[in-house]
Amino acid sequence: MIVELISTGTELLLGQISNTNAVWLAQQLNAMGYDVLYQTTVGDNRERMQAVFRNAMDRADVIITSGGLGPTQGDITKEVSAALLGRSLALHPPSLERIEQYFSTRKMPMPPNNIRQAMISTDAIVLDNERGTAPGVILEHGAKTIVHLPGPPRELEWMFSQQVGPYLIRRYGSQGVILSRVLRMYGLGESSVEEKLHDLVKHQISPTIALLAKAAEIHVRLTAKGSSEIQAKAVIATVENEIRQRLGHQIFGVDDENLEMATGEALAARQLTVALAESCTGGLVTSRLTDLPGSSAYVIGAIVCYSNDIKEHMVGVPSEMLADHGAVSGETAECMARNIRQKFGSHIGVGITGIAGPGGATAGKPVGLVYIGIDGPLGCRLFRFNFSGERQFIKQRTSQAALFELRRYALEIH
Ligand code: ATP
Ligand code: MG
Repeated sequence: MIVELISTGTELLLGQISNTNAVWLAQQLNAMGYDVLYQTTVGDNRERMQAVFRNAMDRADVIITSGGLGPTQGDITKEVSAALLGRSLALHPPSLERIEQYFSTRKMPMPPNNIRQAMISTDAIVLDNERGTAPGVILEHGAKTIVHLPGPPRELEWMFSQQVGPYLIRRYGSQGVILSRVLRMYGLGESSVEEKLHDLVKHQISPTIALLAKAAEIHVRLTAKGSSEIQAKAVIATVENEIRQRLGHQIFGVDDENLEMATGEALAARQLTVALAESCTGGLVTSRLTDLPGSSAYVIGAIVCYSNDIKEHMVGVPSEMLADHGAVSGETAECMARNIRQKFGSHIGVGITGIAGPGGATAGKPVGLVYIGIDGPLGCRLFRFNFSGERQFIKQRTSQAALFELRRYALEIH
């Protein structure tokens, strides 16, 4: 069932307000299995609005408009559709009564203009508005339907949820369900994910496959339409399995599962504990790990060892090592990981040191150079990165890398 959403209002064209109604309606309708294939915005101008309505009648089954049901002369939506369908507007007494009541319960006199809101096309289905004055309107024209909703979002949302959604299901039956599932990956760029999934993306029909680059993550969103939830899930599962065969190691979570959750889960499931010595991340990794309830089961503690003095005296990095290799070096990161593990008595120790910038670069050590050491029962591992970008971004990327490698380390322990 093809839907066109038409947003009316010169304010929208001028960019004075954001078109949140179209976003909201599109989400609702897609979730109901409708195909929202067109979204149009038009100002409060009779000729142009009529042209837009006429065009929509040609290409959509269901047209849903928002705005222009108010009491002023600029509010012309109902007049335009009546003219297009060859109907006339007549006073709808129950609506007038409701509007009068709306004003009287608020102890306000009703401006005569509000009578306009009770003028409705003959043969229309009238929609109550509990949150405002303008009633909504449904016009049936053969197998097609025009729905007029008021502009104010809280009125539109209430009216759609309470009345229009159920009406559409009654009139057109179930449109099936649309399900989405997001596979979250770390460690690959968008283009290499695309390359690995090239044939799937190219031949996608159902589910559709969308690649989204997020902060140091790639999300692959699979969306399927099915006659039932079980069927849509099955369609998604087939392609998800194929993607997991190719990129399984990089996928750490689905939907809302972030890297700290996935890492926490890997540690908790193996009853492993972790301690951290963080320099350039300033405690960000520990902060992210401890965002989760229950993290006390696996986070023992951390030292933010920003200065060399603290690296030496609190974490035990030898001053010769700092002098010979520098605070930002593989030797220091490994030493931090080993020492914090031993000091705090955890199963795994993590050491992070790097140059977040914009200053601090030296010959051979550019901004974005980061070392992460991870020490544990499988031995000490060292990771070296050259991140680019601003300070906050480098810190964020470093925390992603540390969490991902910590998770991978934990997963390898039995
Ligand atoms: P009113 O009776 O308030 O005049 P109306 O049905 O005539 O309602 P409009 O006059 O078009 O609707 O818009 C009223 C208000 O609703 C706007 O000022 C704006 O705040 C909000 N609004 C209108 N259209 C949208 C939209 N597409 N997205 C978000 N908000 C909107
Ligand atoms: Mg208005």
